[in-house]
Amino acid sequence: MSLFRSIFKYVWPSMRKYKFLFYGSFLLFGIRALLENVIKPIFFKRIIDNLSSSVDEMNRLLLEPTLLNLVLIIVIINFSLTLISRLGKFMIYDFEIKVIKELRNFSFSKITNNSQTFFANTFAGSLVTKSNRFVRSFETMFDILIYQFYGTLIAFIGMFFVLYNQSKQACVVFSLFVFIYILIIILFLKTKIIYDADESTSDSKLSGRLSDVFGNMLAVKIFSAKKNEKEKFREITTQAETKSKKAWFFGGKIEIAQALFGSITLSLLLYLLIKLWLKGQISTGTVVLIQTYMITIYEKLWDLSNAMMKFTKSAAEMKEVVEIFETVPDIEDPKNPEKLNMTKGHLVFNNVSFSYKNGQEVFSNFSIDIAPGERIGLVGHSGAGKSTFTNLILRFSDVSAGGVTIDGQDIRNVTQDDLRSVISYVPQESILFHRTIRENIAYGKDNATDEDVIEVAKKAYAHDFIEKLPYKYETYVGERGVKLSGGERQRVAIARAMIKDAPILILDEATSSLDSVSETYIQKAFDELMKNKTTIVIAHRLSTISKMDRIIVLEDGKITEQGTHADLIARGGDYADLWNHQVGGFIE
Ligand code: ADP
Repeated sequence: MSLFRSIFKYVWPSMRKYKFLFYGSFLLFGIRALLENVIKPIFFKRIIDNLSSSVDEMNRLLLEPTLLNLVLIIVIINFSLTLISRLGKFMIYDFEIKVIKELRNFSFSKITNNSQTFFANTFAGSLVTKSNRFVRSFETMFDILIYQFYGTLIAFIGMFFVLYNQSKQACVVFSLFVFIYILIIILFLKTKIIYDADESTSDSKLSGRLSDVFGNMLAVKIFSAKKNEKEKFREITTQAETKSKKAWFFGGKIEIAQALFGSITLSLLLYLLIKLWLKGQISTGTVVLIQTYMITIYEKLWDLSNAMMKFTKSAAEMKEVVEIFETVPDIEDPKNPEKLNMTKGHLVFNNVSFSYKNGQEVFSNFSIDIAPGERIGLVGHSGAGKSTFTNLILRFSDVSAGGVTIDGQDIRNVTQDDLRSVISYVPQESILFHRTIRENIAYGKDNATDEDVIEVAKKAYAHDFIEKLPYKYETYVGERGVKLSGGERQRVAIARAMIKDAPILILDEATSSLDSVSETYIQKAFDELMKNKTTIVIAHRLSTISKMDRIIVLEDGKITEQGTHADLIARGGDYADLWNHQVGGFIE
């Protein structure tokens, strides 16, 4: 129940926006269920009663106008039913389409609210499947709710009242039948839900695996791992098969129970009706009416059990997304964010301590003061804490103690969007969207004009190669930018950071060896980008940072040395060692 409540909590706000369509659909479908399942059979009953009441020719002729009237009424009912159904369906479609749009937007914004850590730990492929399922499941659940649950309920209530007036005994049997039948379904369903949830989990696992393998096809090929991957995939599909089988077989068992119970009760009721008729307590028409009701409700209930299964299955599928909605993002914006006044880029770490969730401590009482416009080169062996340092500035993680300030303002006091608006970050592996080059560059600034884009592309030494591409700035770069070379991608990313023009710049220098032409271009582009900005460069190549204002050597989360290149060389410490021992310009 709590599951349905939490689903409702997330879908109702979107549904509420279209109240008129929502209530209108229910009203029309209620009328339809009554007319079709309850009222129409009453007129058939009257016809039958009339037909069976008279045997001689005279009486028959007298009955003709009454019978014709009854037929006319049935024709009118049928006609109204068609109209009401059409109109009702139209309203439902309209309602569902509108709500689905809202839900898609809602789930997009909810999922993207999660922290970088969340995305690093979650397969993009399975997120796509889950959020698609979320809206599809809504559609299924709403269809079932209105067509099946609600339709059956209204028909049952209507029939109950009619039967109550016709024969109390039949009414009791009828109600008992419905009650017990629903009870059986509910009892079975509890187990079914568990099987269905298992099935849906293994389904997600399958999609996650697919996207992992497809996304890393290069690694699969390089390591000749196709056979291994195939085998592992087969294991996963076998698991999925077992889970699906369990769920389906259990569904089969429920159907057997339903069928048995249904046929026994239907026969019992028929027997009771015949007895009542023999005693003259009910008319022939009533026998037919009750029998019709019983068969109608039996069919509806049969569908209902399937519908309930589908309903719970959809709920189980929605659960996976609702769980994501329910998790509180690791990094949250303050309730009352301060106005941003970080303009100069004075960056201070004040006694910062930080440990990862697994207990790995990276910084303890770490302090550093970086002046506005200062250019810092950060060096240190892998695992020294360089990326963690930049992650703390970007608030991809929060410090455990102490604080990080920019221009005196604690970064936790402003929104993450505001904070990141004053930082340009160029990661090692620049990832581009599968959009045009122009769009990728313009991503750094709202309302960037074409002139802006070309200007930064020139400064980033990207303009020339872009002009040589088949569609120039309108060329699509391929998923994650695969159609460009590493160096080209990096220059597009630099142009994107340039157009953003933020006071603080963080560069994670690419370790991958670029061709020397690209390297020179990138170096020039970096120099251009750093102008008048507080800059932190994580350097893997000491030559890159020898011109920096200050070089910081980081080991095990501690600053072991700092100063200019000349200072540090003169000092003859770790940096000097690194400088003398670097192989091919790289430290590792
Ligand atoms: P660098 O960038 O200098 O190579 P990192 O900042 O990535 O170093 O890592 C610093 C330390 O933190 C390393 O010991 C690393 O194993 C650990 N670490 C990095 N990321 C995580 C994480 N997500 N969870 C746990 N430990 C991590």
